[in-house]
Amino acid sequence: MLLLSLHFMKITIDKAAGFCPGVKLAIKKADQFLEKEAEFHCLGSLLHNEMEMGRLSDDGLKIVEKETIPLLEGKKLLFRAHGEPPETYDLTKENDVEVIDATCSVVRKLQKDVKSAAEEMEKLGGQVVIFGKPQHPEVMGLMGHTKGLGVVIRAAQDLAKVDMSRPVRLFSQTTMDDISFELIAKAIKEQMERKNPASDLESYNTICKHVLNRVPLLKKFASEHELIIFVSGRESSNGKKLFNTCLEVNPGTHFISETSEMNAEWFAGMETVGISGAASTPQWLMKEVAKKIEALT
Ligand code: SF4
Repeated sequence: MLLLSLHFMKITIDKAAGFCPGVKLAIKKADQFLEKEAEFHCLGSLLHNEMEMGRLSDDGLKIVEKETIPLLEGKKLLFRAHGEPPETYDLTKENDVEVIDATCSVVRKLQKDVKSAAEEMEKLGGQVVIFGKPQHPEVMGLMGHTKGLGVVIRAAQDLAKVDMSRPVRLFSQTTMDDISFELIAKAIKEQMERKNPASDLESYNTICKHVLNRVPLLKKFASEHELIIFVSGRESSNGKKLFNTCLEVNPGTHFISETSEMNAEWFAGMETVGISGAASTPQWLMKEVAKKIEALT
C-alpha cells in the first residue's frame, strides 16, 4: 500500500505486515465484548504490542494472571491465541468463570496432535519433544497436553534432555525458525540412529504457514527499499525473528516499538523507505509511523 509520496522520499507500508489471522480473531473478540461491557478480562497479554494493548486497556480490557481466576467468579475471561493447558480450563470451571476462547485454530490443531502423540508415546515408552521457548505461553499450553512426557528444547545444547534410546515425536512452537527446526530434527535423527538403527522418530514441522510465508515476502520488501522501519513490540518473538530477517537483507533496518523512537537523521538522503512489522503490529500504528516520518523530514 503506497501511503505517502514526498518529493524526494517514497514511503511504503508493507501490505503483508500486521495481524495474523489468530491475533485478528482474538482482538475482534475483545472488541466485541468491550463494546457491550465496561470491563473485560483477558488471561495474559493479548498480543505483544504495547500500543495496541494500550488502546484495548483504554477501552476497558483488564489483563489478569492465572492466580486471579478464583477471584473472577461469574465473569467472562478471554483466552488468547497462544492457547492454554487443560488445567487452566479446569480452574475456570471450578471457579464458575466463563471462557471466551480465542485460541488460534492452528494452535488448537497442534494441541490436539501433541495430545495424540502423548497418548501414543505413553504406550511406547517415548517422549514428546517441543522445539520452542520453555516460558512461551503457547509452549506451556502444549506441555499441558503431553501427559508429563514432554521435553522442551530451545537449541542444540538442550538435546541432552532427550533420551535418544526411546521413541520421539517432535513438534515445533508455531513461531520458531524453520531452518533451526530442520537442523534440530536432523540432529535428533542422527543421535537416535547412533543409539539404535531401528529408532522411532517422527518429526512434524508445525511452524505456522503464516509465519513461513511472511519471510520470503519480507525479504523482497526489505530489498526494495533503502531504509526499513520495522515496528513491533519488544516482547514479540515473531517480531524479533522478522526484524532479523529484514536486517539480513537490508542493514539499513531500524527496530522501533513506537513513533517517538525514530530519529530524523535516519532519513537524510533516503529516497525509498519501507515500513513493516510483526504479526502483532496494528496497521494503524504503521500509518502513524508513516505520518511521523513525513513530519520529521
Ligand atoms: S502466528 Fe499463526 S499460529 Fe500464531 S496466532 Fe498467528 S495464525 Fe495462529
